[in-house]
Amino acid sequence: MYRSFLIKYAEIAIKGKNRYLFEDALVRQIDLALRKAEGEFSVRREQGRIYVDVQSERFDYDETVAALQCVFGIVGICPVVLVEDAGFDRLAEDVISYLKRAYPGQAFSFKVNARRARKNYPMESMEINAALGERILAAFPGTRVDVHSPEVMLHVEIRNQINIYSVVIPGPGGMPVGTNGKAMLLLSGGIDSPVAGYMIAKRGVTIDAVYFHAPPYTSERAKQKVVDLAGIVARYAGPIDLHVVNFTDIQLYIYEQCPHEELTIIMRRYMMKLAEHFAKERGCLGLITGESIGQVASQTMQSLAATNEVCTLPVYRPLIGFDKQEIVGISERIHAYETSILPYEDCCTIFVAKHPVTKPSLHVIRNDERKLAEKIDALVQEAIDTVEVIHIEP
Ligand code: ATP
Ligand code: MG
Repeated sequence: MYRSFLIKYAEIAIKGKNRYLFEDALVRQIDLALRKAEGEFSVRREQGRIYVDVQSERFDYDETVAALQCVFGIVGICPVVLVEDAGFDRLAEDVISYLKRAYPGQAFSFKVNARRARKNYPMESMEINAALGERILAAFPGTRVDVHSPEVMLHVEIRNQINIYSVVIPGPGGMPVGTNGKAMLLLSGGIDSPVAGYMIAKRGVTIDAVYFHAPPYTSERAKQKVVDLAGIVARYAGPIDLHVVNFTDIQLYIYEQCPHEELTIIMRRYMMKLAEHFAKERGCLGLITGESIGQVASQTMQSLAATNEVCTLPVYRPLIGFDKQEIVGISERIHAYETSILPYEDCCTIFVAKHPVTKPSLHVIRNDERKLAEKIDALVQEAIDTVEVIHIEP
């Protein structure tokens, strides 16, 4: 019954010139997202509103809604019936036929919420509310008006066309991707980093990603899992260039040269350095990790300080204050969890010490890193030269 969707977005935060940037980006992201849904669509802007119109004969309603629910910046998706203004009697008929189809055979409580956005319409909002209310009561025995908590909140907006809708499907909120620069996500195969990428993308940031791969200690399947997770993040964040870095030789060298309890910290410092290299190459303005204080030895305040030290770009850690269970909750909601818990090893689990330091001293770490002086620059360069970039489409 629907041929259009009215897209609601939070307008309050965006004024002046920013509003156009915001709307442009939103339209672009909606266009992109709808490619995944069966049907042909066009996106239209009218009087500070965004509409998605179905152009093809057939379309998949559920797929369309699901696609729109991945677009940051959308706060509500309203399947809407658009009718021409042909006098009040005709509008009442249209409203009644809308309700018949939307709530077949049901008795419901309702409230009419009319809005006259076009001031030359001959009736005022309150009059429309009352008059439509009467017609509805007459047409549907058993229905009643409830102005406080109606089951059906019927919106009737008088614009160029008249908009009739009563369903508001929640969108993901946030800001359209493309409105806030780009950042480099350190994406592992775990639960946390895809959630971290999702959260930063939600603020309008475009995402590229880097994965440290350690063949043969980590398998092709572990890499494929990361590619799949990047695909899941891309549903929300748009296309992602995933940098797969060969990290084996660096890890082995650190393993040979440095105290084993410092291995994880030193390794993480090299991950950050390399991530920053690719970030700068790609014009990213920050790094993103899935770290959360105290979650593991490498995420104590001291460890985070040690990893952070090697970067000059800001490091965004959106999960920093979250408990694991809260992170799992988001992971499930964005449909990453099932992929994240597949059992393939990641490169950190191969070289873990029995008793990693939990309070690394910067002084000691810097000192032990000197043991890498002979070969590390060449190994880092090798890792940069052999990077594989995989373009991930949503
Ligand atoms: P995750 O669930 O994201 O893997 P984690 O709890 O396993 O996190 P760590 O393994 O300590 O935590 O990693 C902390 C962060 O470092 C990750 O969230 C991710 O951003 C980054 N990271 C860890 N391993 C890799 C890797 N192999 N490639 C890219 N980034 C990684
Ligand atoms: Mg991990």
